[in-house]
Amino acid sequence: MKKYIMAFDSGTTSCRTLIFDSEFNIVSSAQKELKQIFPKPGWVEEDPNEIFSTQLGTAVEAMAKININAKDIVSIGITNQRETTIVWDKTTGEVLYNAIVWQCRRTSKYCDYLKANGHRDEIYQKTGLEIDAYFSATKIKWILDNVEGAKERAKNGELLFGTVETFLIWKLTKGVHVTDYSNASRTMLYNINTLEWDEELLNLMDIPRCMLPEVKNTAEVYGKTSREFFGEEIKISSAVGDQQAALFGQGCFKEAEAKNTYGTGAFLLINTGDKRVESKNGLISTIAWGIDEKITYALEGSIFIAGSSIQWLRDDLKLIDSAEDSEYLANKVDDTEGCYVVPAFTGLGAPYWNQYARGIICGLTRSVKKAHLVRATLESMAYLSNDVLKAMEEDLGELKTLKVDGGASSNDFLMQFQADIINREVIRPENIESTVRGAAFLAALGVGMFKSIDEILKKFNGDKKFEPNMTNETRENKLKLWHKAVSRAFDWAED
Ligand code: ADP
Repeated sequence: MKKYIMAFDSGTTSCRTLIFDSEFNIVSSAQKELKQIFPKPGWVEEDPNEIFSTQLGTAVEAMAKININAKDIVSIGITNQRETTIVWDKTTGEVLYNAIVWQCRRTSKYCDYLKANGHRDEIYQKTGLEIDAYFSATKIKWILDNVEGAKERAKNGELLFGTVETFLIWKLTKGVHVTDYSNASRTMLYNINTLEWDEELLNLMDIPRCMLPEVKNTAEVYGKTSREFFGEEIKISSAVGDQQAALFGQGCFKEAEAKNTYGTGAFLLINTGDKRVESKNGLISTIAWGIDEKITYALEGSIFIAGSSIQWLRDDLKLIDSAEDSEYLANKVDDTEGCYVVPAFTGLGAPYWNQYARGIICGLTRSVKKAHLVRATLESMAYLSNDVLKAMEEDLGELKTLKVDGGASSNDFLMQFQADIINREVIRPENIESTVRGAAFLAALGVGMFKSIDEILKKFNGDKKFEPNMTNETRENKLKLWHKAVSRAFDWAED
């Protein structure tokens, strides 16, 4: 009888389920978009119950497509949008507020307050993170401060906090309240040196310890799904933040191996082995994964807006019919006619960390046409990634190559431009589904299908390489104008 691994990819814009056979080929998949809620400029929410039912629906659909049932599935692995914050009632499961999505800026002012009161170094030292509204801590605090009675109930032990994987596991198992090292390290409450929830930070933000999940290995059996969902129980044996999953799914198991994922945002991660590296250039330290209680760290540069700028061209400006059209249009022109787009819609992440930056289009003349604007938007992903890569190289030395994945990495124009701008080889695997592959590999590891990480490397095959092909003069000129454009986007918003 064939055996399968089921991977949940609970992303920002959609939930997907992919089913892998024992050779890690994808044999079935199902996907459904999630509704995004924008109550105010800069605020982003989702409905947690919709996340759960959508994720479950795609799992049932993916199983039905190949006519398998729960008995055929060895285990479930989960990878998820990170930092997104959910608070719910421990007894009834009722959520107190919508999920506050990682992109949401509502706690920027409170983050300013923390910085102004001298907490930056303490928080960076403990959590590896720069104080920012992006991480979960200030979002939890916002819910406790703004939902009537929440603080009291939390103190009485009636409420639970979780990021998306924790909420899904709690619902599926009917009560197992856990997270893993990779997700815990994104909360701004977890001490990545001592591997404990940090009492001082919890006190600082007045968040009761009893709300927090237990932190487990990234690959181990956390529990089993209740029979009610798939007829039989299925083990859940990995939970991993999406970017760390992609690092794993690209096979970046060794120190100094790096990848960039171009999804809704873009995220460059480099494996720093068993030591935490302190960046001098605005990058954050994070836990890549914990396996058998052994921690692997990474340095990360987060770019908040990448592929979602292409959705903006498609859905809001209606300049393109599909994301793929962006490549066709970009190739129709030789350059952007001096136009630069800085898609700082929700502030700028690494290496700038300017929460009040907002998007700008500059260099406009009458010669700038639709294709130039589309091309400039695509190029912005490569420029932003270049800025992170350069910061990383200053911390850790030169990288020879960059591995890439994620939805927008299928765009050959973008990948070639990326290689040109960073002046490094760009390597795209045949299968750009690194995130879900990472979750599936980890789930398999969690149930003992692999004896060691090294066995997983045998599952990797072909890739496509993009070699740099731009003169130094052109590159420097473009980068000079890009940096001028970025500086114009700084500090635009007033709150
Ligand atoms: P996520 O997991 O963050 O939801 P994905 O990895 O599925 O994201 O990638 C989807 C993103 O990639 C979308 O924002 C979409 O606009 C962008 N995208 C998909 N295909 C292309 C393409 N060919 N060119 C440019 N952007 C693309």
